[in-house]
Amino acid sequence: MLCIPENYLLLPNKPSYWDVIHFDIAIVGAGITGSMVAFFLEQYAPNLKIALLDSHPTPNGATTRNAGFACFGSISEFLDDKTTHGEAYAVNLMHRRLAGLSILGDVFKNDDVGWKNYGGVELFMSETVFNQCVEMIPHVNRLLNDKSDTAFKVKVYDSIENGLSGDVKSITNQREGCIDSGLMISALHRKLKSTRFFFGCKVDGLFANGNRVRIETTHYNINAQHVIVATNGFSKSLIPELNVLPNRGQILVTSPLPSFKIHENMHYDRGYYYARQLEDKRILIGGGRHLDKTNEQTDVMETTPKIQRALEGVLRDTLLPEDVDFTVDYRWAGIMAFGENNEKEPLVGRNGNIHYIVRMGGMGVALAPITAKEWVLQFLS
Ligand SMILES: Cc1cc2nc3c(=O)[nH]c(=O)nc-3n(C[C@H](O)[C@H](O)[C@H](O)COP(=O)(O)OP(=O)(O)OC[C@H]3O[C@@H](n4cnc5c(N)ncnc54)[C@H](O)[C@@H]3O)c2cc1C
Repeated sequence: MLCIPENYLLLPNKPSYWDVIHFDIAIVGAGITGSMVAFFLEQYAPNLKIALLDSHPTPNGATTRNAGFACFGSISEFLDDKTTHGEAYAVNLMHRRLAGLSILGDVFKNDDVGWKNYGGVELFMSETVFNQCVEMIPHVNRLLNDKSDTAFKVKVYDSIENGLSGDVKSITNQREGCIDSGLMISALHRKLKSTRFFFGCKVDGLFANGNRVRIETTHYNINAQHVIVATNGFSKSLIPELNVLPNRGQILVTSPLPSFKIHENMHYDRGYYYARQLEDKRILIGGGRHLDKTNEQTDVMETTPKIQRALEGVLRDTLLPEDVDFTVDYRWAGIMAFGENNEKEPLVGRNGNIHYIVRMGGMGVALAPITAKEWVLQFLS
């Protein structure tokens, strides 16, 4: 007689026959980076068995909690990067972000991601910084090989007509736009045809096991020949030695303000603040983490009074006329990743069969597509 031990029947949550797949590749993190890696792997190696895991039911780091700028940087940010990291670094970063935006345009139809071709504008309250940036315009435009005259130029807004406070100085560019971040990640996941999703599955540890990797999750273990860690600000829990620090970004969204008429992505103070008017006329504003650097180096997804008050202050005291009032209808935080010395370029590498593609900085919408595509082509070569 066949005898089944009692304790076997009591074992909780065993994977089904269908779940026990030996994957070629498992990607941890289903934000824009991990999902782009899955997309390009499907494109260039359709026979691979791919798993995409995320700890949450929907990606929950930066991708769905960002501002949705499809941008490549402002002049004052370029100057800041040049001072901190050198000109070659600043130029390379700008070019790579532009290349990433071009890939984004190839992958998606505009409507699928809510793409708006509004351009960008950097707003200046300081005459000195404005003049420094204006001086740099010809140089930066040359670096951007601006033959179509769409890169940086000075623009004067009529403040009354546009619902701005006082005379704001500004530099615009036509090479950026904005997306709906929720639509973008849904569209990207819809493009994945053969990838197997494991959502709500937190990876607790990765263990090399011969030429395969055992992936221990909150549910059950999966194994794959190669694992790609694409967990951005949460990566240290899986690979502690990486030069990646979580950096919290906070955002608020106002009640609708129809008198405000600036549609471009707004950048302010070296990119430390950013704002845009949403389709229903609300203003989204984010940033300010430089005001509380130490406390904002965290992966705790909470808003704080200090930063939220600063964001409201920029709106009330700088951007909007005094008589315009609003309520704050949404407040949230997301987690970005930078290096220990504020490095903003992606960190890509491997320990054996455990690969990592992390540290997308504050412009992952542009950097993730190019970093993922290049990684896939290199991996398959
Ligand atoms: C407030 C804010 C505003 C921003 N605004 C912009 C902007 O306007 N334009 C722009 O280009 N960029 C912006 N960024 C940056 C951009 O969003 C990020 O660079 C980009 O989304 C990073 O994507 P990612 O896929 O690498 O990481 P994430 O989107 O963080 O994805 C990582 C995923 O890993 C999952 N995960 C983590 N740990 C585990 C684990 N142990 N097991 C399983 N899954 C795990 C998380 O749930 C998450 O879904 C902003 C970021 C923030 C926070």
